[in-house]
Amino acid sequence: MDHVVGIDLGTTNTCVAIIEAGTPRVIPNKGGYAITPSMVAISESGKRLVGHLAKRQVVTNPVNTIYAVKRLIGRKWNSTAGRTVAQTCPYTIVEGPHGDIRLKIREHVYSVPEISAFILAEMKMIAEQYLGSPIDKAVITVPAYFNDNQRQATKDAGRIAGLEVIRIINEPTAAALAYGFGKNLERKVAVYDLGGGTFDVSILDIGHGVFEVISTAGDTFLGGENFDLRVMQYLIETFEEDTGVAIREDRMAMQRLKDAAEKARCELSNVRETTIELPFLHTTPSGRHLHMHETLTVQQLEDLTEDLVDETVKICQRTLESAKLEAKDLDDVVLVGGMTRMPLVQRKVAAFFGIEPCKGVHPDEVVALGAAIQAGALVDSTPELLLLDVTPHSLGIMIVGGYFHRLIEQNTTIPTRAGHVFTTVRDNQTSVKILVLQGESDKAAENEMLGEFILSGLRRAPRGQVEVEVTFSISVDGIVSVSAKDLETGREQSITVTATSGLTEDELKDLVKQSQSYMLELRASEEIERRRQQAEKLIDTIRGLFPQVQEAMSGTRFGRDAIAKAEAVVQRAEEDLARGDARTLLDTMQSLDRTLGMFKNVMHKKSEAAHR
Ligand code: ADP
Ligand code: MG
Repeated sequence: MDHVVGIDLGTTNTCVAIIEAGTPRVIPNKGGYAITPSMVAISESGKRLVGHLAKRQVVTNPVNTIYAVKRLIGRKWNSTAGRTVAQTCPYTIVEGPHGDIRLKIREHVYSVPEISAFILAEMKMIAEQYLGSPIDKAVITVPAYFNDNQRQATKDAGRIAGLEVIRIINEPTAAALAYGFGKNLERKVAVYDLGGGTFDVSILDIGHGVFEVISTAGDTFLGGENFDLRVMQYLIETFEEDTGVAIREDRMAMQRLKDAAEKARCELSNVRETTIELPFLHTTPSGRHLHMHETLTVQQLEDLTEDLVDETVKICQRTLESAKLEAKDLDDVVLVGGMTRMPLVQRKVAAFFGIEPCKGVHPDEVVALGAAIQAGALVDSTPELLLLDVTPHSLGIMIVGGYFHRLIEQNTTIPTRAGHVFTTVRDNQTSVKILVLQGESDKAAENEMLGEFILSGLRRAPRGQVEVEVTFSISVDGIVSVSAKDLETGREQSITVTATSGLTEDELKDLVKQSQSYMLELRASEEIERRRQQAEKLIDTIRGLFPQVQEAMSGTRFGRDAIAKAEAVVQRAEEDLARGDARTLLDTMQSLDRTLGMFKNVMHKKSEAAHR
């Protein structure tokens, strides 16, 4: 059967799931964990490290370890996002050739989708190892609030990783799918998702297999990281008060602090008080070693972060308003994301909605499970599962005066399309430039620019006489496309899009190729490793048999020769292993196999002789 995986590509953690025997299930990674940190690092020897391997070395290698790359995907260099990340992260970000953001790791510059692709490739591998067959299709989730650029860049990441992204779905919708799977529910639910980097809330109407998102809102810059920063800030200030030493510039110390802040925060979801012990946190220029020893209580944590939780509640209020609902109209609240384990979050959400949140879903796994359910439904074209999603942002164009003219309103069900008629403003004008934007501001400049479209090859005619109808479509993935038609002649007009962020088609093709050859190399080196292990085992077995064989054949000339030969084979094998030569290793393995066969033969004959 054709397997399609569902992947929750999170800011902090990534999770992969499949449908197995009709039931969605998460595939654990090599370490047995359901979630894999969304981290990528390049080691000193140039080795690519993903997930737990990257996370484990972050303290000693912060500048070459990329985390929370999802905050940068599909964003522009001169955006607030870019600036904020540049100020807070220890790794280096640089401007890309298309006004996009790139990451510099050890003299090599990577695009953002490439880094995401490393994570996706790892998830693909986890699934392939589990299933024992190759996987080339996936459904990937994104925050509901992602705009077109971010969705497109996520699709690109899938492509680079060797995955055809058959659908992009919104994380809250995926969560609702998993929540309502196989239950034939009829209810209105809110999905509250607070992860490591983003906050999302959606109101859905579930009825007999139809999952309709009524409204959605969120903040792509509100999550656990913000909570960590608050705790760090507190620790830095306390440390400064105690020691008089400022440690903000000490990268290693900051990384350890961040780690400790998160750990303490998670612990405080279960206990009232915790300690933060960081021996040798900082060494002053005069060589004085400074240690941190602090305690943090739930109350302190809540005081430090309460306004962040309140902010999420305000967004919930806005979502309800745009759904034209009140809290009492909802039947259930589904909590998603690791941060919802924080008791303050649970309390505030319960108080706002006036309902105890649903306990039946796993906050870490529910999104990936929903993606797998959607994947399964797309492959089997399940008619009883219908997913109606909405576009999170209004789509429009820039008109005279720098104003934003809306063509598709926020929260319109997708897929959808809208037309707009453009006319020429000059005599013999042959081209028109159209700026397509997404956002809610009336000023075009304050919205997210998706692309610049040049409508060319127009008929030469007096101004105002050429009318071109441009159709803007939003696909089920939430991805925007544009087409144009001359109204008088009915002729399709050509439209070229100038990449405003991300990668060009050529760059993408190149990266796909690079990624394929990387995977081939990786597989080859894994194959060598496997052979090496087999060879080592064979050598051990043969060595273990030497005394017995020697005894069995003692005295015979044939015996002496055979033993000498076997010894030579083993020695050669050991040399091959030391050299790591894969090709000769295969030959040597065969010789080892023959030797072992011969040994077994001798032993067998001997035992037969003994029984006679
Ligand atoms: P994302 O969707 O961004 O990938 P997750 O849903 O995996 O993120 O959530 C990760 C966040 O959840 C991190 O900030 C982490 O610190 C936080 N988290 C995980 N477990 C707990 C816990 N027990 N208590 C509080 N926060 C937690
Ligand atoms: Mg998430």
